[in-house]
Amino acid sequence: AYSGPTGDEILAKRREYLSPSILHSYKTPLNVVEGKRQYLFDDKGRRYVDAFGGIATVCCGHCHPDVVAAIVEQTKRLQHSTVLYLNHAMADFAQALASKLPGNLKVAFFTNSGTEANELAILMARLYTGSHDIISLRNSYHGNGGGTMGATAQSIWKYNVVQSGVHHAVNPDPYRGLFGSDAEKYVRDVQEIINFGTSGSVAAFISEAIQGVGGIVEMAPGYLPAVYDIVRKAGGLCIADEVQCGVARTGSHFWGFEAHGVVPDIVTVAKGIGNGIPLGAVVTTPEIAKALTRRNYFNTFGGNPVCTAAGLAVLKVIEKEKLQENAFEVGSYLKERLTALKDKYELIGDVRGQGMLLGVELVTDRQLKTPAPNETLYVMEQMKELGVLIGKGGYYGNVFRITPPLCFTKEDADFLVDAMDYSFSRM
Ligand code: PMP
Repeated sequence: AYSGPTGDEILAKRREYLSPSILHSYKTPLNVVEGKRQYLFDDKGRRYVDAFGGIATVCCGHCHPDVVAAIVEQTKRLQHSTVLYLNHAMADFAQALASKLPGNLKVAFFTNSGTEANELAILMARLYTGSHDIISLRNSYHGNGGGTMGATAQSIWKYNVVQSGVHHAVNPDPYRGLFGSDAEKYVRDVQEIINFGTSGSVAAFISEAIQGVGGIVEMAPGYLPAVYDIVRKAGGLCIADEVQCGVARTGSHFWGFEAHGVVPDIVTVAKGIGNGIPLGAVVTTPEIAKALTRRNYFNTFGGNPVCTAAGLAVLKVIEKEKLQENAFEVGSYLKERLTALKDKYELIGDVRGQGMLLGVELVTDRQLKTPAPNETLYVMEQMKELGVLIGKGGYYGNVFRITPPLCFTKEDADFLVDAMDYSFSRM
């Protein structure tokens, strides 16, 4: 049994010694002390079905034995900076990652986070093209560094950084977007940005295939291929931010962009690829990667042996346990059951997403789509009491984010939907 500090004791320390900017979920935050596959356990030994997975960071399941073994074994042998000497772990993982990507996307640069990966992707695109302008989508989240906070387009996640050369295109959001599902109009907006907001040449277009932080927002069908086309005509590169939607999560494909029939020039990866270990990557073509050899570029721990050993183990587990197939099967079933809830509760305005990247948007008026953040919080709290953890997102804080470990079962899905159903019925 757990004999460590209580939640209140930790909270008191946090208040005194940690930045007040650190967020936590729930009125009384959970003191989690253990994780196993799709379950978390609190200090009282209570089990929770984890349907948020540390914000889509846990893909194989908490403390997956193969991943733990890879980390422990490598730690016992060697943990070190990435640079200076050779070690096989980074090279092995790079090769394995390349084997999962299409086309000539085969050269990796490793980082410690998604932010770092996107910062580097933006830098590479600017170096390679000689242009400065970046186009990202409104409602996106790409990180909290100087460049990525500029590319991020939600005021709630931005400070007053200098947004040098970043343009935010109208979000092709079929539910809340200005042009509904009319991809052509959204594409025209990007063309107008290029024509009237830049010299005509751009460095890159960056987007997620499904927005995560933004509230699991899918794109109007046909948008991405058309935008990739016009961005390339303007000399720009196309960057796919796969930090949340990549690594088998969407089920139908290994990468989110694949469902759109496009091949990006640069792909950024983080979160799930490390199953909870800090690991990020930028994967691109050998030609684009060369742009970064003009000066020294250095990252002490990016691609270190322990983290890349974890990454390799993650890829093997996904294959061995058919987690992509499971994300598709269980994710589709879960989405079906959530969609059925929509018929029961007026408050549910939209159910969307793919595989195990699902969103449920709450509105007090379906016609006006008035966000219902208070009801969202209420249901989340109730579900926690019933033993189910989900996330929340969207600009208005009114979207449930359901991003469980990919080993989530049908029984877990049933338990989640039943708990949600009961919580709604009690409102
Ligand atoms: N891109 C996306 C799509 C993300 O969801 C996030 C994190 N929420 C990031 C980038 C930044 O990753 P990190 O927090 O690891 O810096």
